[in-house]
Amino acid sequence: MEHPENDSKYLGLNVNSGVAQPPSVNPYLASRPRRKPIPTAGELVEGILKGDITALSRAVTLVESMAPDHYALAQEVIEKCLPSSGHSRRIGITGVPGAGKSTSIDVFGLEVIRRTGGKLAVLAIDPSSERTKGSILGDKTRMEKLSTHPGAFIRPSPSAGSLGGVARKTRETIVLCEAAGYDNIFVETVGVGQSETAVHSMVDFFLLIQLAGTGDELQGIKRGIMEMADGIVINKADGDNIGPAQLAQAQFRSALHLFPPTASGWQPEVLTYSGYYELGITEVWDMIDRYFEFVKANGYFERKRQEQARWWMFETINEQLRKNFYEDPEIERLLARNEREVLANRRSSFAAAADVLNHYFANFKK
Ligand code: GDP
Repeated sequence: MEHPENDSKYLGLNVNSGVAQPPSVNPYLASRPRRKPIPTAGELVEGILKGDITALSRAVTLVESMAPDHYALAQEVIEKCLPSSGHSRRIGITGVPGAGKSTSIDVFGLEVIRRTGGKLAVLAIDPSSERTKGSILGDKTRMEKLSTHPGAFIRPSPSAGSLGGVARKTRETIVLCEAAGYDNIFVETVGVGQSETAVHSMVDFFLLIQLAGTGDELQGIKRGIMEMADGIVINKADGDNIGPAQLAQAQFRSALHLFPPTASGWQPEVLTYSGYYELGITEVWDMIDRYFEFVKANGYFERKRQEQARWWMFETINEQLRKNFYEDPEIERLLARNEREVLANRRSSFAAAADVLNHYFANFKK
């Protein structure tokens, strides 16, 4: 059939008339099983401990899955991997979109592999990626060199769910990667929301990537993020931008002096570098090496990891309790009714809360 688009007056794209489509089901595939069966926890753990990427990827997919039976299997795998985990350097990397995270991680990643002779896993926390279709952090296509390196495992952010849920999955994935022999872990996040706190609760070193030359270097970022940083690095210190980068460096340094001393006793450093032109990369990693030496020597490294383990236990309990409460259909109805009453000024907020909670606890005790 002729398409009207092929008329010479039509300004859009030309469309050729169609060809016959092959059958949608490949007859050669019919006799094969549709999917590989899910391996047992034992098989997955055996593969992971051998450093098998397929086993690792499948286990991570289970961790990310919403299906309850996958959850149970994932937990079993994680428990079995725990004794072989923990022996890595976990580094959080944050910066606003455009700060140069992917460019830098590509270069930093190669540097860290070169220095340690080890393996690197790049993970990410980006709870917004599904909704905004924004940058899917940790995406391989954004890290050209690393993505083809045999020592690198790159995994984009789990996209579904709340920040707490997404962060928990990334935290569990760290355990799996460590058991598979990845001794360097990067966790990437966008420095514009709450996700930095979640990243901070799972890494040993928190690196903040900043830009100079925007005129309001210090206003653009939240004080909270700066306070979390163990190192601030000003990217794109190349060409005409070297001067502004150095100015920003001085400003950040003096701003940091106004902060209270850090719990680790480490004085956060401010450096400039260029991810694109690969300038100053060695200095950035010298700083990170110095940090690890410092906190391992003064005991802070271990203490922080223990605090994080405790934090995650309570965080998981809180998340499950909240879910159990808010996802109960009866509670949802009661909540909606009480909300209307409160908004219409017929009931106090406290009486409404008591009504819903009493109902929940009464049912719970049965
Ligand atoms: P992300 O959104 O934080 O991951 O940032 P990208 O790594 O995608 O970088 C954003 C833009 O900045 C890209 O166009 C990069 O080419 C550019 N860029 C990254 N690093 C540098 C750098 O060191 N110098 C310069 N001049 N440009 C850079």
